[in-house]
Amino acid sequence: MKIKAIGALSATQPLEAMEISRREPGPHDVQIEIAYCGVCHSDIHQVRSEWAGTLYPCVPGHEIVGRVTATGEHVQRYRPGDLVGVGCIVDSCKQCEECEEGLENYCDNMVGTYNGPTADAPGHTLGGYSRQIVVHERYVLRISHPEEQLAAVAPLLCAGITTWSPLRHWGVGPGKKVGVVGIGGLGHMGIKLAHALGAHVVAFTTSESKREAAKALGADEVVISRSPEEMQAHRKSFDFILNTVAAPHNLDIFTVLLKRDGTMTLVGAPATPHDSPEVFNLIMKRRAIAGSMIGGIPETQEMLDFCAEHGIVADIEQIRADQINEAYERMLKGDVHYRFVIDNATL
Ligand code: NAP
Ligand code: ZN
Repeated sequence: MKIKAIGALSATQPLEAMEISRREPGPHDVQIEIAYCGVCHSDIHQVRSEWAGTLYPCVPGHEIVGRVTATGEHVQRYRPGDLVGVGCIVDSCKQCEECEEGLENYCDNMVGTYNGPTADAPGHTLGGYSRQIVVHERYVLRISHPEEQLAAVAPLLCAGITTWSPLRHWGVGPGKKVGVVGIGGLGHMGIKLAHALGAHVVAFTTSESKREAAKALGADEVVISRSPEEMQAHRKSFDFILNTVAAPHNLDIFTVLLKRDGTMTLVGAPATPHDSPEVFNLIMKRRAIAGSMIGGIPETQEMLDFCAEHGIVADIEQIRADQINEAYERMLKGDVHYRFVIDNATL
């Protein structure tokens, strides 16, 4: 089946319209007509081969929402017409300890929604900047938000779960002081979710223009991380910091803000490494720097249900498919409030 898509033919070419093929649904597959797809900074890293190993053509997109159009004979949980989502994972081994625990994101054989190994043409997975996708039902999520919010639900499938999973894992809730560094797609969801979980939330931004906006997202305080005075006022006070910045930067200015036993978790995945942090800042107060990757399928469903119950969606700017290259340039300048979402009907 031929499907309209946008993708890149090489690391140095802009994205362009193309046709791709999708498999017919197998017994456990769900076929989805994609309504909207969010634009993640990871899409840019991948399209431009900044992490190396990108296979072309590259059709990015892992914040997918739409409606089921067909299901395989063994599919139990979905029926045509259902509103569903697909995030960053479309397959895994289904047998290892991680898969058994519902942490498919840490399976050694996890297959990403794009650039992952597959028997389907062209030999690697192609993502959500396309009209349709076929996915094993295990990796399909149910959406219970009202349909009119569907475009703003799309970013929950990556930005939402990538911030939810560490916030939950490190016990963020009432009585905890939590920092969120970088107010982009991930960061703005981190603020909304940490606030909804009952924490005291401090947003760290390099952009003075986001100071008021971060409060509207749910931050109790906003700190301009370029200001040593503003940073100094928060020394040794945080239980947890979630760092979403997409570029290498000085981690020490944040580790010194952690309390004894506090943790800063990195989810930003820059193309080049950060400078090594000053170990004495860690040793002296038993502080930790950790990492976290997206989230498992059950916790993604838990996050979507929590967001539906609490009326949480992303703040988005909807774009046509032919605006994607311009959207990438704006995202690289930090000029997005706070997630671009493609209207896939314009493909
Ligand atoms: P984004 O929307 O571009 O936001 C990143 C934010 O980081 C920017 O808005 C900016 O916030 C801040 N920033 C960017 N460059 C900076 C610099 N040089 N110095 C200081 N701050 C800077 O990106 P995103 O989609 O949220 O993704 C963020 C990162 O997470 C990317 O590297 C992405 O690949 C990665 N990611 C990781 C996972 C995972 O599983 N771990 C999942 C998804 C994405 P301010 O203007 O507020 O400073
Ligand atoms: Zn992503």
